[in-house]
Amino acid sequence: KTFHDVLIVGGGAAGTTVASLLKRRQPGLDIAVIEPSKDHWYQPAWTLVGAGAFDVEKTRRPTQSFIPRGVKWIQRRAIGFAPTENRVDLDDGSSVSYGSLVVALGIQLDWHKIEGLEATLGKNGVSSNYRADTAPYTWKCIREFQGGRALFTQPAMPIKCAGAPQKILYMAADRFKTRGLNADMSFFTPGAAIFGVPFYAKALDKVVASYGITPKFGHNLVAVDGLRRRATFDVTIDGKTTREDSGFDFLHVVPPQSAPEVLKGSPLADAAGWVSVDKQTLRHTQFSNVFGLGDCTNTPNSKTAAAVRAQAPVVAANLLSAREGSELQARYDGYASCPLTTSVGRIMLAEFAYDGVVTPSFPIDPRVPRRAYWWLKKSYLPSLYWQMLKGSLGPDWHAARTFPEAVPAIHP
Ligand code: FAD
Repeated sequence: KTFHDVLIVGGGAAGTTVASLLKRRQPGLDIAVIEPSKDHWYQPAWTLVGAGAFDVEKTRRPTQSFIPRGVKWIQRRAIGFAPTENRVDLDDGSSVSYGSLVVALGIQLDWHKIEGLEATLGKNGVSSNYRADTAPYTWKCIREFQGGRALFTQPAMPIKCAGAPQKILYMAADRFKTRGLNADMSFFTPGAAIFGVPFYAKALDKVVASYGITPKFGHNLVAVDGLRRRATFDVTIDGKTTREDSGFDFLHVVPPQSAPEVLKGSPLADAAGWVSVDKQTLRHTQFSNVFGLGDCTNTPNSKTAAAVRAQAPVVAANLLSAREGSELQARYDGYASCPLTTSVGRIMLAEFAYDGVVTPSFPIDPRVPRRAYWWLKKSYLPSLYWQMLKGSLGPDWHAARTFPEAVPAIHP
């Protein structure tokens, strides 16, 4: 069968959740999901894996177990989009056509953009929590660190989970402090602030200072020499770029990221390659039967699974409305959450929406790192995630906000 009422491209956090929500609302709907991977990974816990606080095997489950009953899983890779013909082309030469399309391809990790990185990643003290196979090596490096220079890098935005590069920084600093090690720690970012939301950035500046970490703004990692243990940075200050070299004993790298290759230059993409959608309805700006969500869109929210949780009901509701020819009622407010591990055992729960509006779920100061949020991240959020994929969180969690409901917010 080569036609489906709804075709979902990408069966990660976003695609799977939308498939489940649609199937629950309209059991008769003919849905197919294009997803090449047999494994589904709970990526948010890789940060804890790198700090020795989570078992990597518990972050993996079979993709099959999340494909809702009655939904067809096409285990292939999409290689092209022809939205004027309602068609997606696959890597085996076949194609699938659709009534409605949901694009949920995630974000691409561009390891190759840092010279020498791929050859040394996972050895020579060079690691990254952005891969399931290297996150355990981060913990090995931290465990075996005997003092010296530890460097942590963040690439240019946008990336998925903008807080992840500094989460491992603080947990490593905490581990080194507990062991009484003499660690010279630096955090390198091309940006000019530690975090994109000023309300939280001010509180995080204090965390950085409390550990004696040196923030290196305007620094972009461009090359790694694992054998010589040297990292090279482009340093841009006042529009002038120079090169800087630093030795290391441990280097944690977060790779540059961009839109998936299959989207770049496709009719669905904006100039930068992201799926071009309305930031509230999540409908494509040009093709009215196409929706997009998750890390692959051009919406200016923080790319997180927390954002996916808020976006999926909006896409499900609006897609069904569009199919009925009625007005789109559901709106995404830009909600995202970033549980910032400020130590092993405490978390600052950053929650915010579009334009840096702070939207805490609990009526207490969200800038205060708390033990309860550590428990939330380690025990509660993983199970919340697996349930989200099945659309089984209950009506409150899966309810889409409808226009013009106000966003509960406090302003910094
Ligand atoms: P994904 O879940 O990545 O899924 C994309 C899917 O598309 C994949 O299954 C992939 O196989 C598939 N795909 C790719 N190319 C093709 C193709 N050509 N054809 C078909 N399918 C394709 N989020 C939080 O909320 N909180 C956190 O604390 C947090 N921490 C994180 C820490 C780390 C280290 C990382 C890596 C991520 C973290 N995230 C966090 C981010 C979160 O994991 C992502 O934002 C979320 O998974 C996005 O969902 P998605 O469906 O858009 O992308």
